[in-house]
Formats: sequence, structure tokens, C-alpha cells
Amino acid sequence: MTETATREEIHSLAKATLDGLFQFIDTEVVPLEEKFRDVLGDERKLFRDDGLLIDEVAEARLSVRKMSSQAGFYAMFAPEEIGGGGLPALANVLILEALYRKYGPGRLLIGWSNAFLGSPLVASFIDGPSHMFMSITDEVRNDVLPGLLAGEKTVCFGLTEPNAGSDVWGLQTKAVRDGDEWVINGTKQWITNAPYADHAAIFAVTNPELAAQHKGGISAFLVDASSPGYSSETVLPIMGHVSSDCGMITLDDVRVSNDRLMGEEDQGFMIGMMGISEGRLMIAGGCLGMSEWALDRSLEYVKERKTFGKTLSEHQAIQFMLAESAMEIFTTKQATLRTAELVDDIPTTGRIPVKEISIAKAVSVESCERVLDRAIQIHGGLGLSTEMAFQEGFRIARTLRIPDGTSEIQRRTIARQLLRGDVVF
Ligand SMILES: Cc1cc2nc3c(=O)[nH]c(=O)nc-3n(C[C@H](O)[C@H](O)[C@H](O)COP(=O)(O)OP(=O)(O)OC[C@H]3O[C@@H](n4cnc5c(N)ncnc54)[C@H](O)[C@@H]3O)c2cc1C
Repeated sequence: MTETATREEIHSLAKATLDGLFQFIDTEVVPLEEKFRDVLGDERKLFRDDGLLIDEVAEARLSVRKMSSQAGFYAMFAPEEIGGGGLPALANVLILEALYRKYGPGRLLIGWSNAFLGSPLVASFIDGPSHMFMSITDEVRNDVLPGLLAGEKTVCFGLTEPNAGSDVWGLQTKAVRDGDEWVINGTKQWITNAPYADHAAIFAVTNPELAAQHKGGISAFLVDASSPGYSSETVLPIMGHVSSDCGMITLDDVRVSNDRLMGEEDQGFMIGMMGISEGRLMIAGGCLGMSEWALDRSLEYVKERKTFGKTLSEHQAIQFMLAESAMEIFTTKQATLRTAELVDDIPTTGRIPVKEISIAKAVSVESCERVLDRAIQIHGGLGLSTEMAFQEGFRIARTLRIPDGTSEIQRRTIARQLLRGDVVF
């Protein structure tokens, strides 16, 4: 699909997918949200004392994943080689943009909400089948993939540690070979979906000398959460929330067989970057849609609300805020769609658009924060009300300046590429 489809065909494919997806959401997911409206809107009822979602909502999210899988949406962004839909990157961002433009933030059963709970509708590298599973052994393919593709099981992406975030080469988790097995010891922190995941992609140092030289030496293992020595009991509340889906993982002499290696031994860094790059583009598409959603709502409101005998739309200060948001949305959209096109072109060009992926992530997240901030300002007190989702969108956008590479790390990557001679725009 990716190699042969024209841009027009990809746009048509995204539109056709969206028609089905919107219908699926409106008939299957929105009624579930209505059923749990009281609980979903009140975090004191939504989370248990230990920070986990109450059982009814966890089950509702599981049922959305399974229904989405049966309807062919859940793994649509995962490669065909592992049983996914194989949609091109351009289709992915178009779909996420439209999804978030229509439904907005704060939708626990549809997408990002409550400090970045991943979407049960569509799998990504932080919770389900993704490009990271391209180089797996038959054991993982037969044993783990079916459950992930069906939405019955989930995975998490265990890279970050208490002393290694931006500086991935500082990983302290170690895996030591013992016959046909590896013994893993270490602690992971800020891992999305860790408290719920059935499996974890764990990144560990397997060759300290290579890792010290930044030449490899890190391997990725698919670890079962039920393994002796594995635990994920601490949930980490995030910015203005009672809880979140981020947690810690401790690995205490956890044994995995050699066939749980993802990709080549010592080459896990590349597997991790594959997931993170995919995540950066998905974040860009989602934030673009959230910005459009906020501007759409603002345009409706300014035509209705009157102050000093005029609608808000007649005040130039308000017009300027609308214009600023439109300018940022337009430039974000160009950056995001163009980057997705460059990703789809990799098989023919051989060029990985490292700089552009960082630009798309940074621009979309940072502009989304400003657009949501203006939407709050335009709506006055109503903008801050928890009944409106602007405050949740604002918090999501602010949060997203940290994961999948902070804004500073995106700039570091962009500058490094420029200084290496990548000055193509
Ligand atoms: C909501 C959320 C979800 C997450 N999900 C996951 C997940 O699923 N899996 C996972 O593995 N991790 C996850 N993370 C972790 C995330 O990737 C890290 O928090 C992030 O990479 C930053 O690492 P850190 O927190 O250790 O900050 P640090 O690396 O300590 O950085 C602190 C500050 O210093 C800046 N800084 C660091 N180095 C430089 C430099 N060279 N130049 C300039 N500035 C620099 C940073 O930009 C930041 O502002 C998540 C984090 C959050 C908040």
C-alpha cells in the first residue's frame, strides 16, 4: 500500500476509514461514555485508592479495544507484516487529526484524557502492536501477537528510568545472559500503561562497553508482567489529576528466554527509536486535531457571547486571538502532513526524516498548548470550567512537551541534523 499509493489515494483511504470509524464510535463508544458519564467526569469516582481505574471503566476500555479490533480499527496503524492494517503514515495523521477535531480531548473511551491515557480505539507503540514488533521471534509472534492484535492484551514501552530519561545511554537496567535465558534487574519510571500491561518491552544494557561508547549494547526484551520478580504497583499521578496510567516497573532477577529478544542483541536502541518516532508523529496528528477542535469551539462561542453590547467576534483583541491560532494550526498542519509524506517516502528515498519528525512533534505540541490557552481565555470563566474540555486539552498539551522526547531534546535533534548538513526543507 505504502509503496504504490498516490497521495490522493491515501487521502481517500483516510476519508473512507474515518467514515467507518466515526460510525463505529457513535454507535458503540459514545453510548458507553454516556453510561459511565457520572464516573468518567469525576476522578474521585474514576480511580480506586491504589490509583487504578475502577473495574467497570477498565472493562469498558477493554471492550472498546476488542470491538475496535473486530471492526478492523484497533491495529490499523500497525504494519501488515505483523497482522496490522498497514496504513501509511499520512493516513495515520489524517485519521488522528480528524478524530481529535471531532471528539476533542477528555474522552477516556475514545482517546487521550486524564493525563495521557492511551486511546483504546487505536493501538500505538505505548500499548499495542506497532512497528516495534517487526523483528520478533516466532515465539513472540505466535504467543504474544494474537492477544495484542485482538485488543485482549496490552503492552507497555519500558525505556525511561529514574536516572535515565532524555539521556537514554544512561540506562542502568541490566540483562545478563545465563544459558538460554537472560536475567534482568532494574527499575523503570514514567511508563505509560505499566499498571495495566500484560507484557512490557524492557530496554536493558547487555553490553556495557558498547553502551558506554554509544555504539549499541542496549537490547529490547518482551517480558511478561506475570514473570516472577516483575512488579508494577506504583501509579504516578500527573499534573492536576488524582491518578494517571503512568507507573513504575521493578525487575528483580526476572528471567526471560532468549527468544523474547526484540530485534538483534545489542541493537535495542534502534527498536526503541522506531517506537518513539512513530509516537512523535501520532502525537503531532492528535495535537493538530485538538487545536482545530478548540478553534472550532471558539469560533462558535464568539458569535454568540456578547459583552459591551457586541458579540466577542466584533472585538479586535478576540479576532487577533482567533487569527493567531489559525496561523499556528496552518503551519502545524503543513509540518505534520509533510513529515508523514516523507516517512511514507522512506522506501523510495532511503532518507529517514529525523529532523522533520522532531519539528512536527515540537511544533504541534507547543502550538496546541497556546491554542488551548487562547480558547480558555476566549471562553472566560467557562473556559476554566471542568465541564468544558479545554482545561483537559491544555493539560494534555503541556504534558506532551515531556514524553517521546522533551521539547529541548527535539531542538537538540534538529540542531544536530542541521550541523550534519541536513538543510533540506
Ligand atoms: C506522561 C508521560 C508519559 C510517559 N510515558 C513513557 C513511556 O511510556 N515509556 C517510557 O520509557 N518513558 C515514558 N515517559 C518518560 C519520558 O520519556 C521522560 O520523562 C522524558 O524523556 C524526559 O526524561 P526525564 O523526565 O528523566 O527528564 P530529564 O532527562 O532529566 O530532563 C530534565 C530537563 O532537562 C532537559 N534536558 C535534558 N537533557 C538536555 C540537553 N542535552 N539539552 C537541553 N536540555 C536538556 C529536558 O528537556 C528537561 O527539560 C513518559 C513521561 C511522561 C511525563
